Amino acid sequence: AKSAHSNEPCFYDSQMDDAVRERRELIADLRTAIDASAFELHYQVQATIPSGEIAGYEALVRWHHPVRGMVPPSEFIPLAEKSGDIVPLSIWILRQACFEAALWPNRHKVAVNLSPIHLADPRLIETVSSALADSGLPPERLSLELTESAIIHDRRFALEQLARLKAMGIAIALDDFGVGYSSLDVLRAFPFDRIKLDASFVAEIETSEQAVSILRSVAALGTTLNMPVLAEGVEQPAQLSIVAREGCGAIQGYLIGKPSRTLADAEQVRRIMAL
Ligand code: C2E
Ligand code: CA
Ligand code: CA
Ligand code: CA
Repeated sequence: AKSAHSNEPCFYDSQMDDAVRERRELIADLRTAIDASAFELHYQVQATIPSGEIAGYEALVRWHHPVRGMVPPSEFIPLAEKSGDIVPLSIWILRQACFEAALWPNRHKVAVNLSPIHLADPRLIETVSSALADSGLPPERLSLELTESAIIHDRRFALEQLARLKAMGIAIALDDFGVGYSSLDVLRAFPFDRIKLDASFVAEIETSEQAVSILRSVAALGTTLNMPVLAEGVEQPAQLSIVAREGCGAIQGYLIGKPSRTLADAEQVRRIMAL
């Protein structure tokens, strides 16, 4: 039986799970938001060890939903990936980040997260080229962050795309290192410019000797491979001391700055890094 207003069977319509209904609504709202560009990028500072100098800023997307308020990216990015809306959203993010960073007085790098689905898009190279050309941002100021999962599906094409981006002068960072499946294999497959060690390791370094050992080994591995390791999620001065002592090349985390519309001040970051 079909209902008068849709192609859905009546049975399903009436019993439709609240969660399913909510998800559909959210997808519809997401499409509206993409059409209206109702997103905002916040920027979180990354700093180099030991100089304390700013290494760049990571762009993190924010969605202010008209009714629900702030919807976190951990919720709507996976949703957009499943609903097929990630590519237009990802294009908006990339272009917005390039246009905004081109206006920064400090000429720092901007790091943009790239969805595995967007990496698989054959038009990506063209999208990136025109974002750079239209904004005037030099490729050396753009860095793309990718998780290992980006390279698992259609590995060959993913690696080709990465090589093209790198040849354009764009830096490529391996994101969330340590929490995926084939970490070491991925390191062997591509010369990343940097490894970002997942925040879950940093969270344990004050209490777990094992976490410190892993951190030390990853930092040494990164140094050997010429892929400096950035420790994510550094919140405490004690954590900064440990990651610096164990050989990490950079940090990101609330200790030096939360994601914000306002760029973190270089002098302030240097002061915190010097503690
Ligand atoms: P991610 O790429 O690993 O980004 C780092 C996340 O950790 C951000 O969460 C950031 O706000 C948070 N964070 C940074 N420092 C600290 C800290 O010291 N303590 C704690 N507890 N958290 C910290 P956010 O902005 O909610 O983003 C979550 C995830 O959503 C990102 O993880 C990324 O996977 C995805 N995401 C965010 N923006 C974008 C985007 O523009 N494009 C794509 N494709 N994914 C994005
Ligand atoms: Ca990231
Ligand atoms: Ca990360
Ligand atoms: Ca993450």
